[in-house]
Amino acid sequence: MDLSQVLDSLRVVQLPMRTKFRGITTREVAIFHGESGWGEFSPFLEYGAEESAKWLRSGIEAASGPKFPVHHDSIKINGTIPATDDREEIAALIATYPGAEVFKVKVGTGIDSDLSRLRVVRDLVPKAKLRIDVNGSWSVAEAEGNLKAILDEIGPLQYVEQPVASLDSLRELKRILKGELLIVGDEVIRKTEDPLKVNLEDAVDILMLKVAPLGGIKKSIDIARHHKLPVVVSSALESAIGISHGLRLAAALPNLEYASGLATGSLFKTDLATHEINNGEIRLGEVEPNFDSLERFAAPKERLEWWRERVKGCWEVAA
Ligand SMILES: [Mg+2]
Repeated sequence: MDLSQVLDSLRVVQLPMRTKFRGITTREVAIFHGESGWGEFSPFLEYGAEESAKWLRSGIEAASGPKFPVHHDSIKINGTIPATDDREEIAALIATYPGAEVFKVKVGTGIDSDLSRLRVVRDLVPKAKLRIDVNGSWSVAEAEGNLKAILDEIGPLQYVEQPVASLDSLRELKRILKGELLIVGDEVIRKTEDPLKVNLEDAVDILMLKVAPLGGIKKSIDIARHHKLPVVVSSALESAIGISHGLRLAAALPNLEYASGLATGSLFKTDLATHEINNGEIRLGEVEPNFDSLERFAAPKERLEWWRERVKGCWEVAA
C-alpha cells in the first residue's frame, strides 16, 4: 500500500481508559484502511520514528498483507491487572475477564504495594495462575529479595516478566533462580534495534511477542524461530483493531502453550470494537471499527494532523 492510502483513510481516536495504565488515562490510536482491512498505528506518543516505524509496518501488514496460517480458532487469554491498589477496582476489572484462568499483575511499585495487590488478586481468584510483570524496574538484588518475598507469601508464579532490565542482569538473575521461576524477556527484545541480533542464551526462558512493537506477524514469527524459545503473545495496549492482528499472530503459532495478554480491551471504557471473552478465550474473527465510536472519540483536528505527520516521518524508515 502507498503512503497516500494510509493518510487518506487515517482516523485518530482518543479512547478513555477504565483505569490508569502506563500512566495514561486516554489512549490515542490511529487506524487506517487497506485492501485486506484495517490496520492500527499506535506507538506511544513519546516513541521516536525508528521505534514507531515497526508499529507502522505491523499496521500495514494488517491492512494490506498476506493471510497467515490459522492453527487455533480461539485464543486463551490472561486477565491484565494494572498497578492499582484499589480492591474494588481490581475486583471490577477481574469481572471483565470471564473464565480467565491466568492473571498478569503489574508490579514494581514498591514491594509492600506489590504484595498487597497480589494478595487481593490471589484472594479474588484463588485458583488462577499468576504471572507478574516488572517492566525491568528491579536491580538483581531487589529482584532476588522481592521474588523471594512474593513466592513465600503469594505462592508459586507462572513466571516473572522482565524482572531486571539488561541482558547481563537477566543472566545473573537466571543463574540465581536456578530454574525455580521462569523468566520472560519483553523489553530486552522489543526495545532493541534488531531482535535477531540479541543473544538470549542463559538470559530468559520465554520470549514475549508483541506484534506491533516487533513489526508484524511475519517478523514476530522470524524472531520466535530464531531464538527457539517458548513464546507468550501480548498486546501493546492497542484498540480492538490492533488486537485483531495480535490474535492473528497467536493463531499463527502452532505451539501456543501460554495464555495470551490480548484481553487488554478490558482496560478501555470504550473500544473501537469488541473481542468478546468467553470461558477465558477470545474467538478469532474479523472486527470492524464501530462508526459511532470513531465519531464520538475522534481526536481534534490538530491531533489528526500530528499523526499524519508522524506517519510521514516513519514511512521512509518503515520502507
Ligand atoms: Mg511487559
